Amino acid sequence: MMAGMRVAIIGGGVSGCAAAWGLRTSGAEVVLFEAAAALGGRLATRVRDGCRFDQGAQYLKTDTPGAARAILEDLPRDGLADIGREVWTFDAAGIIAPGDPAQNAQPKWVYRSGLQTLCERLAAASGARIETASPVQALRRTATGWDVVAHDSVAAFTTVIITVPAAAAAGLVRRSSLHAGAAGAVTAALDAAAYRPIISVALGLAAAALPERPYYALVNADRRHAISWLAFEHDKPGYVPAGRAVIVAQMAAPWSAERMNLPGADVAAGAVREARRLLGQDIAPDWVEIERWREALPETLSGATGLAAAESHGLCFAGDHLTGGRVHLALESGLRAAAAPPLGASR
Ligand SMILES: Cc1cc2nc3c(=O)[nH]c(=O)nc-3n(C[C@H](O)[C@H](O)[C@H](O)COP(=O)(O)OP(=O)(O)OC[C@H]3O[C@@H](n4cnc5c(N)ncnc54)[C@H](O)[C@@H]3O)c2cc1C
Repeated sequence: MMAGMRVAIIGGGVSGCAAAWGLRTSGAEVVLFEAAAALGGRLATRVRDGCRFDQGAQYLKTDTPGAARAILEDLPRDGLADIGREVWTFDAAGIIAPGDPAQNAQPKWVYRSGLQTLCERLAAASGARIETASPVQALRRTATGWDVVAHDSVAAFTTVIITVPAAAAAGLVRRSSLHAGAAGAVTAALDAAAYRPIISVALGLAAAALPERPYYALVNADRRHAISWLAFEHDKPGYVPAGRAVIVAQMAAPWSAERMNLPGADVAAGAVREARRLLGQDIAPDWVEIERWREALPETLSGATGLAAAESHGLCFAGDHLTGGRVHLALESGLRAAAAPPLGASR
């Protein structure tokens, strides 16, 4: 039991919410700080004209024990639904072919209310205090742990779990008063992580504009096309009202990197051109929404050994930079941090 411990969790993506949930029976007093107005992070379901669509992660898998237990057993399951359709592949030349039968046999889970529902349910069941719109700015060492400086408050904790992406985590450590030797090892470990950028472009249109197809989404198998993933969001149960359609095109890393700072109209025009060419049909969206992820998916992970240098100072880390860019893996990293949080600070 961790009675008397006060744990701050920084970041309300799936790893932070899973860490809070993992601490629910620990006896610790837990506060989760999220910079944005809502929980979710890269579980990023957006809504326009009554249509939901995912600009970040596409669906949930339950391939690991902690994710399976949380999603399929312990959390409320109302609204949890399998997309129930296949993912097919395409190559650099735009040739479309059936996908991997084993992968396609597995459920692809979504919540009818959007993927961020997973974070909301983990947080609600955790009993933690949730502070949204509270970016943490600095961590100050104290005799018993850490003062967490958020945008309009300072509060004392024995332990801090940092679950923000690696570069932001390194920034927090640099702005903290962590002992210099430990800080050097930790920031070197975090700096080792590198992410792939993705620009995600959602196109809203009339359903009648699209013919029938045998797949829900297409993935670029040879990673040489301008589009890496193209999904028909109206196949997700509960996402899009009848008569409407939403296509999400997630653009490949080189394409995205080149256009990260271009105006939205240029990005939209380029993405529509590529989607038209891939699908072999005219697409004339009524609206376009663009989300620019500079840190979408980790390609190189942070070094777990270097991060361990912070533990004797009451500081630990979770997030997909430790595990790989998958929701269920990020969830597991949060559970791991909760299972063995550093027990307060030593000077
Ligand atoms: C375009 C895209 C497609 C993807 N597709 C898939 C997929 O199909 N399947 C899959 O499994 N995964 C997919 N992923 C990956 C998956 O979304 C991530 O691995 C996972 O959501 C990461 O969770 P996290 O908690 O580690 O980080 P995040 O979700 O990034 O959470 C970090 C949180 O910290 C907050 N934060 C940052 N700085 C501060 C601060 N100073 N103070 C307080 N809060 C702060 C952020 O606002 C954010 O909410 C995709 C991701 C992207 C971007």
